[in-house]
Amino acid sequence: AAKSEGKKRFRFYQPQLSERLQIKIENENALRLAIERDEFVLYFQPRVNAVSGEFCSMEALARWRHPVRGIVSPLEFIPVAEETGLILQLGELIIRKACAQLAQWRIAGLPLLPMSVNVSSRQLNQGNLNDIIASALAEYAITPAQLELELTESCMMADAIEVAEELASFRKLGIKLLVDDFGTGYSSLSQLQRLDLDVLKVDKAFTAELGVRAESEVLFNAMVSMAHALRMTVVAEGVETEAQLHLLQALHCDEVQGYYISHPVPAADIPPLMQRRYLFPAAPVTLD
Ligand code: C2E
Ligand code: MG
Ligand code: MG
Ligand code: MG
Repeated sequence: AAKSEGKKRFRFYQPQLSERLQIKIENENALRLAIERDEFVLYFQPRVNAVSGEFCSMEALARWRHPVRGIVSPLEFIPVAEETGLILQLGELIIRKACAQLAQWRIAGLPLLPMSVNVSSRQLNQGNLNDIIASALAEYAITPAQLELELTESCMMADAIEVAEELASFRKLGIKLLVDDFGTGYSSLSQLQRLDLDVLKVDKAFTAELGVRAESEVLFNAMVSMAHALRMTVVAEGVETEAQLHLLQALHCDEVQGYYISHPVPAADIPPLMQRRYLFPAAPVTLD
């Protein structure tokens, strides 16, 4: 006990910053090595029509297949990648893996369904994201209409003209732009309108409140109206229950994604889902 206490005291007298810096360097080195060793894989989560259950698209979600720890969540390594700048390298890798997967399914004769890829604001601000995407599309012969980009509100915060121009160049190619985790950031209505985005993904925090807090339906209804007024498609994230699905149908939400429909799954599990339509149970009849 004395030994460990001594150790604790020793650590206590270490300058705080250098310890944090050391952890940061260790994390950075581990991530750099994982990129070199190609330890990242993509999982895919379907996004389906809220009424018909038809497969609309699927989201590519990064996983680190760690040799010792197993599957590591992006919530652990994406922040490190963003902090260290490794997200530029990792992000490019993810875009290429997404295109490679689409090509593999195309070659296997499967339907040409779209796929969305999450993009960090640092990737958007690097200035050459359009070149990276164009070369990945070309290399794997993927039509731009099959690719969608999920941007967080922070991506759109910057009033930089370059970002607006880059987004416009994606849309001109036919790449759809999605706003991810909407409602958690600070994007304004005018930004949404100015950037002419295609899809609004309402953050799962709002879905979780449906049927729990009375105001949640009013709030969701307002977001749906706003999105539709801007001619955007609305997606509810984090749909976990049949009750949530039925409320979302009543609120005219266009598409749904969440554990109720499917968890994110490895590539091998996707083909059977592509062919299928999710059969939703009918909502109970209400008299209003
Ligand atoms: P996100 O883009 O908002 O992705 C949705 C997250 O919610 C995913 O977590 C997904 O597994 C989870 N989710 C889906 N349905 C449900 C549900 O019904 N209930 C609950 N509670 N959660 C659900 P995941 O895969 O751990 O990813 C977390 C975040 O990491 C993503 O949030 C995204 O911001 C980031 N991320 C993942 N892959 C990438 C990537 O390739 N690039 C970048 N830049 N970020 C990524
Ligand atoms: Mg996303
Ligand atoms: Mg999201
Ligand atoms: Mg989220």
